Amino acid sequence: MTQQWLSLDPPIPHTTRFDFLVIGGGSGGLAGARRASELGATTAVIESHKLGGTCVNVGCVPKKVMWNAAVHAEYLHDHNDYGFDVGNVRFSWETLKAKRDTYVSHLNRIYRSNLDKAKIQTIQGHARFTNDPEPTVEVNGRKYTAPHILIATGGQPSVLSETEVPGASLGITSDGFFELETLPKRSVIVGAGYIAVEMAGILSTLGSKTSLIIRQTGVLRNFDAFISTNCTKELQNSGIDLWKNTQVKSVCKTDRGLEVTLVTKDPEKKNDEEKIRTIQEVDCLLWAIGRQPNTSGLNIGEMSVDTDERGHIIVDEFQNTSRAGIYAVGDVCGKALLTPVAIAAGRKLAHRLFEGKKDSKLDYSTIPTVVFSHPPIGTVGLTEEEAIKSRGKENVKIYKTSFTPMYHAITSRKSQCIMKLVCVGKEEKVVGLHMQGLGCDEMLQGFAVAIKMGATKADFDKTIAIHPTSSEEFVTMR
Ligand SMILES: Cc1cc2nc3c(=O)[nH]c(=O)nc-3n(C[C@H](O)[C@H](O)[C@H](O)COP(=O)(O)OP(=O)(O)OC[C@H]3O[C@@H](n4cnc5c(N)ncnc54)[C@H](O)[C@@H]3O)c2cc1C
Repeated sequence: MTQQWLSLDPPIPHTTRFDFLVIGGGSGGLAGARRASELGATTAVIESHKLGGTCVNVGCVPKKVMWNAAVHAEYLHDHNDYGFDVGNVRFSWETLKAKRDTYVSHLNRIYRSNLDKAKIQTIQGHARFTNDPEPTVEVNGRKYTAPHILIATGGQPSVLSETEVPGASLGITSDGFFELETLPKRSVIVGAGYIAVEMAGILSTLGSKTSLIIRQTGVLRNFDAFISTNCTKELQNSGIDLWKNTQVKSVCKTDRGLEVTLVTKDPEKKNDEEKIRTIQEVDCLLWAIGRQPNTSGLNIGEMSVDTDERGHIIVDEFQNTSRAGIYAVGDVCGKALLTPVAIAAGRKLAHRLFEGKKDSKLDYSTIPTVVFSHPPIGTVGLTEEEAIKSRGKENVKIYKTSFTPMYHAITSRKSQCIMKLVCVGKEEKVVGLHMQGLGCDEMLQGFAVAIKMGATKADFDKTIAIHPTSSEEFVTMR
């Protein structure tokens, strides 16, 4: 036996080379990988959990299934008014969850088969950059490298520590929401962002007695104030118990469920008095207090990839990080956390790297988005406040309306529809469109095209209305 055979040094792992190495098999990573492969790049995707990422597994897709179920529940209240006698309707969360999970697993398989068909190698495991001179990634003891490495690791729900709120870990996050096996009887949701609004709406509409805890006086505070105020009102109208100016102080477990202690302090009231109250017998406490990027386990600091103070990867307009040959797209960059944004950025990058399209980059302006609240919200472009800030009050013209949609003409249950156009300059270019009401989720996409094309109020007015719809109000506003 030679000396070499006796050496105790670990063998140097062989490094597999690709043209394009993608870390994260979610919306952005998969889209970028598939486009790169179509353009002839040898490509691999590293995924530590399930293909499809947040959107498919614990985000948009299962959320929309739950929202659809909640819309059913809402319409049941109107059946009598529309002449249907549906008798005693029972709802099975268990059936819904089983069907939803089957659908998600089906999507996971489709994603895998699409990668296989495209000859993209799927590497299952957690990726971490090594300290090699050439950017290299290690997964389960094997090394991989490429001249172009894309970080598309997304994010995860933020949680509070036990020191911040004793008992915080007794709660779940949006990820845990999708694991609930039964409909909670009593839910407490903490947060004012769109995920908090959506989950509170779903739980409440499906029959859980729901409280929503917000730190200030309104939800969706980064939306146009018209939407924020209306959505806050709609939540209350729908029976959600809204706790304003309130935070969770502590949580403890009793034999009848969780006991959530809340502290309410109204900053408007001068006496500075804090009210401490408790919600008893809670079987679902859900923290929806924001999301954080998945960057901590990547060892990117060693790679000179710069991050901001919250750990988001800093990229330029071409998705380049501070290290040549390493790029980032999607939620991990902390900008416009939406599936179509991650997908579009991944594809644009692939065209730049593998098709020589030097200018290929995503335009992050005027991104439309929908909140699946009850009723849904659609919004695109600048808020009134943003328009005034950038163009001056004298250059901004606002058109707005609110009405009861015709659907409710014969129902005892009512919901409002509100709409607002933000226009700027003499030509009244439409730079913002905001709405909440029945059907607004499906109404937005077409208007977003018009706004992206630079439509003016006169263009809206020239368009013949579709009657009787809610959307016709946008072309008849005065
Ligand atoms: C409850 C909820 C509802 C949402 N609803 C909507 C909606 O209606 N519409 C919409 O547009 N957006 C919605 N979103 C946002 C959307 O899901 C995200 O914007 C989108 O998934 C971001 O894509 P991504 O590729 O950046 O990251 P992700 O989809 O999160 O993918 C990242 C992937 O990277 C993997 N990964 C992380 N670290 C590593 C590592 N070190 N090694 C290997 N793999 C790793 C993860 O497991 C994950 O699969 C929702 C999100 C949530 C949480």
